Amino acid sequence: MDILERQKDYFYSGITRPYQYRKKALNLLKASIKANEEKLLKALQTDLNKSDFEAFTTEIGIVYAEIDFVLKNLKKWMKPKRVKTPLTHIGSVSKIYPDPYGASLIISPWNYPFQLAMTPLIGAIAGGNTAVIKPSELTPTVSNLIKEIISQTFVEDYVAVGLGGAEKSQELLNMPFDYIFFTGSVAVGKIVMEKASQHLIPITLELGGKSPVIVHEDASLKLAAKRVAWGKFTNSGQTCVAPDYLFVHENVKAQFLNYFTEAINQLYGDHPVNNPNYGKIVNDKHFHRLRGYLKSGKLYYGGKVNPDKRIIEPTVLVDVDQNDPIMTEEIFGPILPVLTYSNLNEAIDYIRRQPKPLSFYFFSETAHYQDTVLEQISFGGGCINDTLYHLGTPHLPFGGVGESGMGSYRGKHSFDTFTHKKSILKQSSRFDFPFRYPNSKNGLERA
Ligand code: NAD
Repeated sequence: MDILERQKDYFYSGITRPYQYRKKALNLLKASIKANEEKLLKALQTDLNKSDFEAFTTEIGIVYAEIDFVLKNLKKWMKPKRVKTPLTHIGSVSKIYPDPYGASLIISPWNYPFQLAMTPLIGAIAGGNTAVIKPSELTPTVSNLIKEIISQTFVEDYVAVGLGGAEKSQELLNMPFDYIFFTGSVAVGKIVMEKASQHLIPITLELGGKSPVIVHEDASLKLAAKRVAWGKFTNSGQTCVAPDYLFVHENVKAQFLNYFTEAINQLYGDHPVNNPNYGKIVNDKHFHRLRGYLKSGKLYYGGKVNPDKRIIEPTVLVDVDQNDPIMTEEIFGPILPVLTYSNLNEAIDYIRRQPKPLSFYFFSETAHYQDTVLEQISFGGGCINDTLYHLGTPHLPFGGVGESGMGSYRGKHSFDTFTHKKSILKQSSRFDFPFRYPNSKNGLERA
């Protein structure tokens, strides 16, 4: 029997449905992660040179917080929700049951290799599903450890890990899972959607793209510079919601860039290439791709690289051509092209001509400007006067729109993602209205 048949049998045995089972599974998962925390920190350092602080705040800590939040609310979420019934249906009761889909498939990327495999899993478990996880092949130390942790914690019929690259992914995508949750690139997202369409499998696509920033002339510039620098260079820019490129108002460009380089020094020191806590690029292919971008425009700051360690300094480019690859491809690294505008509409127009971004960040102290950009630009989610922080809360759904993805998750939104809303009308057998049937002559008839 293949893994999917086994998981479907396990699911249909009913074992994964009760609240107590889900609660126990989430507690077990948390305990196993805790027991393996040291190994995880090491693995994240090996694969991506994440410092303990970064690994905890952006990977392990987020997973604990998500488990705690779900445990606190799950019982309430699982309750069928009674809704109104119209007068025409008198005698009956209407309820919406959050019903698990069954066997789910979770495919995850390499940039937050632990968190992006675990957070969807928490949703799958909370929803009462089984899961097969296919973590990234580009972060083998973390992916192997995920397999170890999951096999120590759960039987494979409940949660399994399939290791491998694109072929393994394709093998799993050819199977009729009941739900697919994919996090990764736009290109592979399209393959996933095509595969899912063969069996009409419901999907969530958490994709990427270019997330812009606008720093308007009335922004609190020093703080904006620090928050953009942090959002851009965390994990060396290898974050799906990292600021990709930045528009700054021409009147404040010089001052902003001064603050920005100050912020880089403050966060990563004068020589980030030698900073042991500064992240490395995941592999040579991505390192060379990023190095190629350095040919665009004019170098304003940074630009030093260390090919042996696969490190690229926090870098700022100005005067880039909008047709250069750096402005047409997702950068996914520590290089920030800075463009200018004189009228806010120019920046808005530019962004609207691009695929809808996963995230967008706007820095301005004026409510009117804030409302204008929120109304005029379509994007997955984002922040006013900050970067990345919208991800740190389980109360906000996280996901893209258009080419940056479909569906969302985190907290209750994960539970909703991993459950089908089954509508049930429970009818009374005590009486039967004849008028609903053809040829009814009388009013109420006793059944
Ligand atoms: P990717 O699409 O190359 O790989 C993601 C997963 O898909 C991996 O597990 C990989 O093995 C698998 N895969 C690769 N090629 C495949 C194929 N041809 N068929 C089937 N499966 C295949 O993405 P990546 O390089 O791992 O991650 C970077 C991308 O992910 C960026 O675009 C980034 O913006 C995006 N991302 C999005 C989010 C989000 O939450 N929206 C989070 C992190 C990363």
